[in-house]
Amino acid sequence: MPTIDQPLWAPEIRQAKKFITMSDPFRIIPVASAQTPAAVDYRALDVARDHADTLPDGLLRPLRDLRISVTDRCNLRCTYCMPREVFNDSHTYLPRSDLLTFEEIERLARLFIRLGVGKIRLTGGEPLLRHGIEQLVEKLASLHTAAGEPVEIALTTNGVLLARKAQSLKDAGLKRVTVSLDGLSDAVFQRMSGSDVAVATVLEGIAAAQAAGLGPLKVNMVVKRGVNEHEIVPMAEHFRRSGIVLRFIEYMDVGTSNGWRMDDVVSAREILGRISERFPIEQLDPNYGGEVAERWRYADGGGEVGVIASVTHAFCNECTRARLSTDGKLYTCLFAGDGMDLRTPLRSGEGDRVLTNLIADCWSKRTDRYSQLRNAATGDAAGAVKKVEMSYIGG
Ligand code: SAM
Ligand code: SF4
Ligand code: SF4
Repeated sequence: MPTIDQPLWAPEIRQAKKFITMSDPFRIIPVASAQTPAAVDYRALDVARDHADTLPDGLLRPLRDLRISVTDRCNLRCTYCMPREVFNDSHTYLPRSDLLTFEEIERLARLFIRLGVGKIRLTGGEPLLRHGIEQLVEKLASLHTAAGEPVEIALTTNGVLLARKAQSLKDAGLKRVTVSLDGLSDAVFQRMSGSDVAVATVLEGIAAAQAAGLGPLKVNMVVKRGVNEHEIVPMAEHFRRSGIVLRFIEYMDVGTSNGWRMDDVVSAREILGRISERFPIEQLDPNYGGEVAERWRYADGGGEVGVIASVTHAFCNECTRARLSTDGKLYTCLFAGDGMDLRTPLRSGEGDRVLTNLIADCWSKRTDRYSQLRNAATGDAAGAVKKVEMSYIGG
């Protein structure tokens, strides 16, 4: 396995580069301020020291997590992700032949694991729409890190199909599930999700996942000003004492379809303020370096709750996530404009060394830190660039 001390990723790298199709392959986020050389800061250095066995990027962040989008399709139309005005009958989804097959995903996953990945999250679009997803889970669940540890396989879903899939996913080797749910009232949920699905359907999915032992279960709630912030306290109340960790996510400027405005963001501070008015809470230490959610617990022992302050408190310093799009492009940031094509070399018969070097070279040159650079007050950076849609590279 490569180490930090090794010179830059072997001679094959020159050969590998011929497959990179972008005009400027390593300029991952084309935001104006990203061109300023980024100062390395000491929080990032700490992360590198903690994981000195893995591949550091240009800001010394190791490669630890891989999110794999298994489909660009979804059975909901959340206004903040796939608004119906854009994702309607005239929207063109990827043809089946463009999707990575399960065998291709498994092969790439093995290479990412060799470079330090220990956690894989399946996402989308809606991952449970991918036919035979259990077979992919089974393949990935059998993989081990260089240290012999099983790779942790998790999945993020909107929960609509979870009631019928929870047990088969568990049987296939899935460890954890995160379910997205933006409110408890049908009216609010349906407005957020752009659908007529009932909240009860998602709650049944959550119950089935709990019954199958897919835990500890997490529920993610995106909060959008004027639409569902009044559901913060009812959601906290509902999931207290359930063993489920509810996490509130600040509405982010991902993609270009959702018409994001800073005014629509309800900050993590405000969310915590609303919860603490009803239930006293106290902060917990992170479970591990690089954890995106700030952890809190109810002072009366009612369990844990979290906030993901992607907008108001950027965590780029500790971002160890790579993303593999449905059609096999490697993205090194959620807010990237383009990714590096791995499917072409994969399908043209390149060996593992060439593919590994492509991935390693891309990661080692990564300097992404979009959220830190975002002009949160005006959203300037958000408006200035074309960014990839979250449904395509996965949340
Ligand atoms: N369809 C699945 C789901 O909704 O859980 C998985 C894919 S979805 C893109 C992954 C996560 O991204 C969800 O929890 C969703 O709420 C979150 N998400 C999507 N768009 C977002 C945005 N603009 N701001 C914050 N979170 C967002
Ligand atoms: Fe679909 Fe998930 Fe996006 Fe909602 S957030 S539209 S459920 S992919
Ligand atoms: Fe990571 Fe998000 Fe920062 Fe990009 S903006 S580097 S995905 S934390």
